[in-house]
Amino acid sequence: MSRFLHPRYETLEAYTPGEQPRDRAYIKLNTNESPYPPSPQVLSTITQEEVENLRLYSDPEGKILCDKLAGLYKLSPKNVFLSNGSDDILNFAFMAFGQAGAAFPTITYSFYPVFGELHGVPCERIPLRKDFSIEPSDYFGKNKLLLITNPNAPTGMALFRMQIRRIVEANPHSVVLVDEAYVDFGAESCAPLVSEYSNLLVVMTYSKSRSLAGARLGFALGNAELIADLNLLKYSTNPYNVNRLTLAIGAAAVDSDAYFRANCARIIETRENTTKALESLGFCVLPSKANFLFTKREGISGAALYQALKARGILIRHFNKEPIADFIRVTIGTNEEMAAFLSATQEILREEGLL
Ligand SMILES: *Cc1c(COP(=O)(O)O)cnc(C)c1O
Repeated sequence: MSRFLHPRYETLEAYTPGEQPRDRAYIKLNTNESPYPPSPQVLSTITQEEVENLRLYSDPEGKILCDKLAGLYKLSPKNVFLSNGSDDILNFAFMAFGQAGAAFPTITYSFYPVFGELHGVPCERIPLRKDFSIEPSDYFGKNKLLLITNPNAPTGMALFRMQIRRIVEANPHSVVLVDEAYVDFGAESCAPLVSEYSNLLVVMTYSKSRSLAGARLGFALGNAELIADLNLLKYSTNPYNVNRLTLAIGAAAVDSDAYFRANCARIIETRENTTKALESLGFCVLPSKANFLFTKREGISGAALYQALKARGILIRHFNKEPIADFIRVTIGTNEEMAAFLSATQEILREEGLL
């Protein structure tokens, strides 16, 4: 830390992204990326001409992409906000809508408290139920910026649209942000509710179901006034926050939506098969609607499993905090990757005398 840093940031604890190690080739099941490449239409977007056009600024409105996303979600372009990954939107949401504080589950996306600290927004943490589900009525009448990850991370468990609707109705004086990073893997999206409520912001990303984590593209769907607020902050920080290539790729991905839906269906099938296989090895697996599983096995700690899998060239995610320290989070890869994960896991359990 330099002596020049503003004192307000001296104690800021930054978000820790999942590791991206380069020491050897790993089977990467640790950051919820898609195991499948983007669609052929996306790949063919990157022409020499597009690259040459990088000398020009991108369209700050991203009009072509906004129009396409509006069409896909049956909204107006005024209801769509584009950003450099959806983390950008979360940042803006804390800046814009955090004046009364924020509230979110104790176990959820670990970036939220970082934004809270960054912007001086006091954060209330609401415990999950014993079964790790979210109790909607715990969020009624808070009238703070609410953050509901649906499906939740790292549990993978989802609320129904109707349950979120009740939360939105019970907080008329604050924004309810539904982070739908994983919604395409089997949960109900709240996008159809956007035109009904002025305080609902649905946040989505291209990073998971659309196989474009490296392109950095996220978007929010909401009432036109909420979207205008986000634009105010965007135009006050970085008006060209989405680059030209990513705008083009994003539009091509909407055009090939069926390709991505098919990938999601494959991932869902692999998830269900992996769940059964883990259960037959004695694992407890939370019911997941995401592209990952949250699971634990009696007799071996999450940390020990993480280390033993890493030694075998398989990366998964472990969170060293209670009450989830016993769990591991495993991204759903290809069938081959999951077979490798399962056989390594079986080997580890045998060595530990647990099978
Ligand atoms: C991955 C993820 C995001 C954000 O991803 P971006 O790559 O910044 O779009 C947001 N919320 C949750 C819960 C996530 O898991």
